[in-house]
Amino acid sequence: MSNSRTVLCSLVICFVGGSTLADGIVNIYSSRHYDTDERLYSDFEAETGITINRIEGNADELIARMEAEGANSPADILLTVDASRTWRADQKGLYQPVDSPTLNAQIPTYLRHTAGHWFGFSQRARIIFYAKDRVEAPPQTYADLADPAYNGQVCMRSATNVYSQTLLSSVIANEGEEAATAWAKGLMENLARDPQGGDTDQLRGLVSGECDIAVSNTYYFARAIRRDVEGVSGAIDGIGWVFPNQSTTGTHVNVSTGGVAANAPNRENAIRFLEYLSSESAQKYFSEGNDEYPAVPGVGLSPSVAALGYFRSDTIALDTIAENTAKSQAIYNAVGFE
Ligand code: FE
Repeated sequence: MSNSRTVLCSLVICFVGGSTLADGIVNIYSSRHYDTDERLYSDFEAETGITINRIEGNADELIARMEAEGANSPADILLTVDASRTWRADQKGLYQPVDSPTLNAQIPTYLRHTAGHWFGFSQRARIIFYAKDRVEAPPQTYADLADPAYNGQVCMRSATNVYSQTLLSSVIANEGEEAATAWAKGLMENLARDPQGGDTDQLRGLVSGECDIAVSNTYYFARAIRRDVEGVSGAIDGIGWVFPNQSTTGTHVNVSTGGVAANAPNRENAIRFLEYLSSESAQKYFSEGNDEYPAVPGVGLSPSVAALGYFRSDTIALDTIAENTAKSQAIYNAVGFE
């Protein structure tokens, strides 16, 4: 962040202000919370002369704020993570359609909204990690996680977490509700401990010996390769991983998304920013800065992400998957998965 900026915070929403010229600005509401994103913003400003003003907060607060501001909202762009949150914002009518030949060419169909309400700019695969010394035949599919052969071995986040919800939403999309219910029940019965913690805590469970198998997004593991993450990095050689469903439906991926706000006062600049996010240099930041997989095919991976390797993604459209969010919450509740 340039040192001429002011940062004003009330509770958890921060206003990161540049100048507010009448022209040449774009107002971004962002729930991405990664320091490394600073380069994304400063490079865009240097390249275009457009000043970025950012409001940062968690997704639910930003969504509520945009709803409250209505037609007077200064928001040009909403950046968030996870398809189910993006879907919620879309249900509330917070985006507008964008038909950009650049974005349509760069971002694969399954990673963007059919009518251009939002676009996925980076991918995080939700995969299976395991303790090499305790698991000889690791699960190869999401379905395997519910196999009684792995009784008492699996660690997962809480069902209230959006990653857990979107994963189950993808199982519903692929297998139907009945199979998804049986899966959630079987998975719960295989848990090594009550669902708890973040993704890094699932990986720490492998190192501490509490868990033999854990579900986590790829970028938490890649981060522990790139820099020291307490409780993981020192024992990283003992952790193996499987990209699930490679011979069937492909591995479930989630996205970090951006869309132009319904009432954007600076629509053209907003589209320019989204197009910039799909450029090769910006795509590389997602990989180098936050250990994510680029959304644009053919962009090289950072060393930490390359260590995990390439895989085949589930290509069911993410907005189709996210439509199952309410159903997945109901299934977790019905089987008692907390
Ligand atoms: Fe995360």
